[in-house]
Amino acid sequence: MTRAEKSFNLAGVIIPFLGVIAAVVMLWDQFVSWRDLAIMAVMYVITAGGITIGFHRLLTHRSFSTPKWLEYGFATLGSMAVQGPVIAWVADHRKHHAHSDQEGDPHSPHTGHGDGVAGVLRGLYYAHVGWLWDDWGRADWRKYAPELCEDRGYVAMSRVYVPFVLLTFGLPALIGYLLTGTAMGALTGFIWGGLVRIFFVHHVTWSINSVCHFTGRRRFETDDESTNVFWLALPSLGEAWHHNHHAFPRSAVHGLGRWELDPSAWVISGLERVGLARNVVRIAPERQAARLVDGGDAAAHRQATKTVNGNGAAPADDGVPAAAAPERVG
Ligand SMILES: [Zn+2]
Ligand SMILES: [Zn+2]
Repeated sequence: MTRAEKSFNLAGVIIPFLGVIAAVVMLWDQFVSWRDLAIMAVMYVITAGGITIGFHRLLTHRSFSTPKWLEYGFATLGSMAVQGPVIAWVADHRKHHAHSDQEGDPHSPHTGHGDGVAGVLRGLYYAHVGWLWDDWGRADWRKYAPELCEDRGYVAMSRVYVPFVLLTFGLPALIGYLLTGTAMGALTGFIWGGLVRIFFVHHVTWSINSVCHFTGRRRFETDDESTNVFWLALPSLGEAWHHNHHAFPRSAVHGLGRWELDPSAWVISGLERVGLARNVVRIAPERQAARLVDGGDAAAHRQATKTVNGNGAAPADDGVPAAAAPERVG
């Protein structure tokens, strides 16, 4: 990681946090309105969705396919979440699946952080933000995201990242200005819809790396420490069913149980209904049952993973789509 990237990540963590403090101070002065909260909510949903649906389920795992213009649209929204360029994000995340909670995982709370309470706290801190100034962006793009490196659009989006940062902070300020006609409207739009929103998007995303590899429920046989964390389900737009996701990485649906709310999967199903999502990967109930820790039959599981998944698409047990797989991942 270069010095500039390190400073950029440091700024990306600290500045939104200062924004939250500024926002709280302004709240005491009653400088927040339903208008600012509405701008924040809309910006939150579209940029967090850019990460969960675009960067994660579409581009990293190829859980469904969609027309190119819509792919780029999702990649633009994901880039506006200020979590780094699209290819860097995909490469880091595929590396996470290739080495989950083992040596080489960019953000495991479990590897190399020492013992005891101090080791646990160090691990959680590292998985949440510490990795951003240590392991972030170090996954080899060509190895982990070769197909994106062949796509000029994604290469351009990943090389020149600043416009997305300007867009993600400029848009809420502009909306605030247009709605009020005042500079104060632009400022509070920027603070709430820009800084505070990015603060929440960041910490919810990072909680998937920290909390969802540390505490919560597990029911499938997996080689990692991933967990399902129900209270993070809605803010994370369904990504907190992270243990389900590690069990079936290519599944477009992470909330596999009836009450496991998964807004990102609802959007993908909606897109499918209007013909904008195809090849949506779903995991047949028998295959899920075979993978359960108890009641699961290892032989049946092995057989099931050798054949096809629920909708007849390619076997989908590793985190990386076959076309892009740098190595076989257990
Ligand atoms: Zn994980
Ligand atoms: Zn994943």
